[in-house]
Amino acid sequence: METISLFETELESFVRKYQIRYPEVITYLYDSVLVNKEYFAYAWTNDVKHFGIRTSNRVEGAHSVLKRFLGNSQGGFVECWKQMHKLHESQLTNIKAKFQQSLTFIKHHHRISDFKGLHNHVSQYALDIINKEVGRLEKSRSIAVNFCGCIIYKTYGLPCAHMIAENRMQSKPIPLSSIDSQWRQLNLVPQVASSNVVFDYLPQLQLIKTKWETSNAIGQRQIAERMSSVAIEILHPDQNNYQEPPAPVRTKGRKTTAEKKKEEQERSTNRNLSRHELADANKKVISI
Ligand SMILES: [Zn+2]
Repeated sequence: METISLFETELESFVRKYQIRYPEVITYLYDSVLVNKEYFAYAWTNDVKHFGIRTSNRVEGAHSVLKRFLGNSQGGFVECWKQMHKLHESQLTNIKAKFQQSLTFIKHHHRISDFKGLHNHVSQYALDIINKEVGRLEKSRSIAVNFCGCIIYKTYGLPCAHMIAENRMQSKPIPLSSIDSQWRQLNLVPQVASSNVVFDYLPQLQLIKTKWETSNAIGQRQIAERMSSVAIEILHPDQNNYQEPPAPVRTKGRKTTAEKKKEEQERSTNRNLSRHELADANKKVISI
């Protein structure tokens, strides 16, 4: 029931069917449930950017996890605070791990040309949602804007099937700018609207400064080293110390004769021939 008129038609037929047999239920439905229909029924929520949060499940889930951490009702304020702190730390670790995975890993089913510019810049959760839209588009070959509904765009801030189709017509991947910043935030540093950014007050700089102030001498030296390499990278992007990775070591299969010979030569402790020895060796070859 994705439109208000469809919702009202369905409700009417439901009431007609059950009003005589269950009048109390119908009264309860109108007095307690339908008064809040704008907050949970798809016909209304599909027009709100809720990022998938349409129920209070998450809050209830958080309550039950907290209860597990608290264990029982005994223990004072300090003990409760410690347990809550532990809970938040474990949640932060999980969030960081998910961010890291989105930043460094590409899932097999995300390796499609539409996602070319999104890999490692957008959360994998969001890519899974867009992937479903890609599936919807491919099922019906082409989706015009009038038939799309654009629910994913309106509720999640992600490109919907008709937008993906438009990009495909121009042979372009999905642009990063079409993804809401909610799904591009892959670190815990707060985002600042670009119009408000003043260099001295960048949240990243503030966090590094706090870390510096609370670190010991070794920590401060490490921060200074990292900062100087970041500065070199930004100021002189062509002068870095990156080196080509070494050739991968073959760990399977028998070595070829040429490989064995090369390895022996590399490991050999024989000295190089001197000039006169080389001359003698040449003479021998010539005399043969
Ligand atoms: Zn659409």
